[in-house]
Amino acid sequence: MSRTRQRKTVPFAHGFKLPDQSAIEKALGTFDDATLESVFNENFYKTFDSLPFPKKPWDWLAQYIERGQTYAEHLQLSRTLNTPASSNRKSIYLTIIGEIDYSIFDINSLVEYTQRFFQMPVKLIHPFMDFQLDDNTYQWTCKKLTKSADEKSQTFNLRTRYNEKPKHCQVHVTSILNLLTKVVPEDAKCLVALTMLDLYSDDTDLFIAGLARGNSRVAVFSLYRYDPYLSFNESDWFSCKMKTASKSEEEMTKRRKLLLLRACRLLTHEICHLFGIAHCIFYSCLINGSGHLDEDFSQPLLECPVDLRKLHTLIQFDIQDRYEQLLEFFKIHKFQNELESVQTKLNVINQSMNSNTSTAKRKHDHYTATSDSRLRSSKRLAKC
Ligand SMILES: [Zn+2]
Ligand SMILES: [Zn+2]
Repeated sequence: MSRTRQRKTVPFAHGFKLPDQSAIEKALGTFDDATLESVFNENFYKTFDSLPFPKKPWDWLAQYIERGQTYAEHLQLSRTLNTPASSNRKSIYLTIIGEIDYSIFDINSLVEYTQRFFQMPVKLIHPFMDFQLDDNTYQWTCKKLTKSADEKSQTFNLRTRYNEKPKHCQVHVTSILNLLTKVVPEDAKCLVALTMLDLYSDDTDLFIAGLARGNSRVAVFSLYRYDPYLSFNESDWFSCKMKTASKSEEEMTKRRKLLLLRACRLLTHEICHLFGIAHCIFYSCLINGSGHLDEDFSQPLLECPVDLRKLHTLIQFDIQDRYEQLLEFFKIHKFQNELESVQTKLNVINQSMNSNTSTAKRKHDHYTATSDSRLRSSKRLAKC
């Protein structure tokens, strides 16, 4: 067998079956809302790509069997999660842990994107301060922001592992989650921390991109390994090399754009999980699982129709309006592939809306004509 053929035949994890058309239809569910049905039609579905086959043995679906989550299953789950307290939670909160180099990480655009994506307020808060690596213990510490100058601020230790040779350290993900649970705002749907610190969970981990604690509404994600200037090998957690920052404005713009795109994908994927949406197996989708960074970077920025329907029911937004807002963002940031993809979807939605309007108009004309002739008939009858 040739090498090329071997490469093409990476199997799905044992027991996983690619969903057929009827499984996808079942996942989408039936529609009893005419406006929604006019968007969710065959032409709209054609604008989404199929679920790709695994290309590498460490791709997500080559390693794990996912059963998928239908629209109805998510609806059921969100009903059980709906409590009197949760009805007042209408905002997403973001915070930064540690230092961020704002010349490469465009946090304001990320907040803007998250707001457009979820169609709800996204607030950036800073409940902690003074993040420092202690020179003696090599442990990260921070303080909680006090409400007044008289209040004594408490110092928190973040569990850290440190390697002296490259002077690289990682922070234990649980210690950040514990910190976040102390400051979740009452009206928060979730509080997500972003950091440029490298994270780990188990001692055997190379690194961990992040972790969510759904029942406490908190999550933390590291963008450290998402920086295109970072290179690392897969043998030692501390073996990371950051390319010297380029002085070229063009290079800086490229790096900033790529980091923003990756951060947009990571953050929205993870918040979808916090909203009860499980990994998707129905289309190529933002919420597909990813087994490694290259697979993550190859996935789309937007969700498939099954997950769009889940988000729509949960948040109750206008689908066309949301796509238009996302299109504007993609234009501003020159996300060309995403721009084309959303433009195609909008064209299809507009076509469907127009054909529905003309059908409705035809029906209306027909109805008016019928009424008129009835009126004429009755006049004639009256005359008789
Ligand atoms: Zn995921
Ligand atoms: Zn999906």
